[in-house]
Amino acid sequence: MPTQENHKTYFPMPGINAGMLTLEDLEHITDLVRRYEVPMVKVTGAQRLYFQGLAPEKRAEMMQELEIPAGLPHTRSRVHYVQACPGKTWCKFGTKVTENLAKALSEMKLDGPLPYKVKIGISGCKMCCCESWMRDVGLTAEKRGWRFTFGGNAAGRPRIGDLVADGLSDDEALDLIKKTLNFYLTTAKYKTRSARFMERVGIDALKKGIGLI
Ligand code: SF4
Repeated sequence: MPTQENHKTYFPMPGINAGMLTLEDLEHITDLVRRYEVPMVKVTGAQRLYFQGLAPEKRAEMMQELEIPAGLPHTRSRVHYVQACPGKTWCKFGTKVTENLAKALSEMKLDGPLPYKVKIGISGCKMCCCESWMRDVGLTAEKRGWRFTFGGNAAGRPRIGDLVADGLSDDEALDLIKKTLNFYLTTAKYKTRSARFMERVGIDALKKGIGLI
């Protein structure tokens, strides 16, 4: 039966690119689940796999085996998660490939720890299946390039992200996102989500801070 203790012992499987699983990933996961007797594997809304309900000592052992660093993701110099739709590679509506950007963003090194969680949504066309407007960093493919929005949130106080730029290539989008996140981490107070940060500073200050105006 699920208990509070079960609820506490969870962590995401690292190294999965935006919910895409290879045969090797599946074999590795099956092996871990068998050896550590994981009670439940959960596919989350963020396209991640969570191992849930492990005994604390098994959880510690598994984290060591998978080389998962201690500390919350937002206390490290990288984003919390990257969610991406199948994009042009796998979806007939897709106008741009999503998986390369998803990988590059999840591995992106920043100038320091982020103030709080940063969630990224990448949608391969304007149907926006990854709800890019509602993510801290949103990318949506349009005919002439990526539309980049910042400061979206889907939680208790929902917010639509501000349009930072559009018509971007993959490299331009990566460059601008890195500048934006570095501006955010040097300017925002600790534990301030990007939505609240953007309400305070405004889009013009952000654009100025990253050299767009
Ligand atoms: S956003 Fe577009 S490309 Fe991506 S899954 Fe939805 S319809 Fe397909």
